[in-house]
Amino acid sequence: MTRPTDAMRRAMAEAEVGDDGYGEDPTVRTLEEAYADRVGKDAALFVPSGTMANQIALRLLGRAGTAVVAGRRQHVVIYEDGAAGTNAATSWYLLDDDVGVLASDGVREAIASEEHHWAPVSAVFIEDTHMPSGGRPWSRDALDALADATGSLPIHLDGARLFNAERATGIPAAERAAGATTVMTCLSKGLGAPVGSMLATPSELIDQARHERKRLGGAMRQSGVLAAAGLLALEHHIERLDEDHARARALADAVIERFPGSGLDPATVTTNVVVFATPDATKFVDHLRAHGVLAGTIAPGVVRLMTHLDVDDAALTHAIEAVRSF
Ligand SMILES: *Cc1c(COP(=O)(O)O)cnc(C)c1O
Repeated sequence: MTRPTDAMRRAMAEAEVGDDGYGEDPTVRTLEEAYADRVGKDAALFVPSGTMANQIALRLLGRAGTAVVAGRRQHVVIYEDGAAGTNAATSWYLLDDDVGVLASDGVREAIASEEHHWAPVSAVFIEDTHMPSGGRPWSRDALDALADATGSLPIHLDGARLFNAERATGIPAAERAAGATTVMTCLSKGLGAPVGSMLATPSELIDQARHERKRLGGAMRQSGVLAAAGLLALEHHIERLDEDHARARALADAVIERFPGSGLDPATVTTNVVVFATPDATKFVDHLRAHGVLAGTIAPGVVRLMTHLDVDDAALTHAIEAVRSF
C-alpha cells in the first residue's frame, strides 16, 4: 500500500543500471550484497516478489515427492495460489501455528514419521514475523528449539517482515536467520519499496537459485531502477519500523475497547499487524472503507489492520476514530 517516497524516486531516477540477466547491473549487485550481509548469508538474489522468493526456496530445498513441514496458515501454504504443487512437486506436512511458532516436538514427529511409511521430510519452512497470528516474532528460544529439532534438514525462513522481528525483539536479523539455510524478505510492504523481495542462500545454492528465478520468469534486465528503491529501504526504513509498531499497538487498544469479546491480547501486538476475530468482520471492514481506512479480512470473521510507512500520526488518529464509530 505504500507509495515510493520522494527520496526513493530520486534514487530510482539516478540509479546506475546494466543487464542483470548477465549479472551486470551494479545497483542490483550492491543490493544483493547488502542484503546477504544484513542477514548473514553468503549471497542473495533480487526477485520480483516474496512469493517468487518462497517458490525458489521450495525448488532449492524441497525434493520432489517429499513433504515440507510448515505452519497451516503460513503465506507459502495458503496465500500463494497453491503454487507449491506445480512448482516443487512437494506435499505439506502441516503443523498448528496458532501462536506463530512451530512446536519443536511436532517438527521432530514429522521428521520421524518416515519410519512409519509417511513421505520423507526434505525441509522445514517457517514465517518470522508470523502474519496470521498478529505479526508475532519468534523468540530466541523457539528459534533455537526449532534448529535443534530440525537437525541436518534445511530450514527456509520466510522473513517477509524479518526486520520488524529484529526491531521488536532486538535480536539482529542475521542471528534470527542463523539456523536457516535460505531466508527471504520483502522490500515492498512496510519497508516501502515499490517492487521486490530478496532471497539469501549459501554460496553453493546461489547459481541454482538464479536458474530457478529464470525458470519462473523472474530474471529482469535493467532492474537497478527497482533495486535502488530497495537499497534505500534497507538503509533508511528499518529503524523507523518502531513507529509502525507503536501505532499498531495504539490501534490494538482501540480495537480492544470496541471489540472486548475479540480476545485480542495487547501484549501480542509487538509489530505492525493487528489481527482479531469478530462475527462483524465484513461489516467492520466496509465501515472502515466508508471512512477512508483500508483494512482486510484474512479468514472468515478475522480482520487484519496494518501500519506502514504511509500511516502517520494523523492517519492513526483518523483510523482510531473510524474504529470507535463502528
Ligand atoms: C507478502 C508476503 C509474502 C509474499 O510477498 P509478495 O511480494 O506479495 O509475493 C510472503 N510471505 C509473507 C509472510 C508475506 O507477508
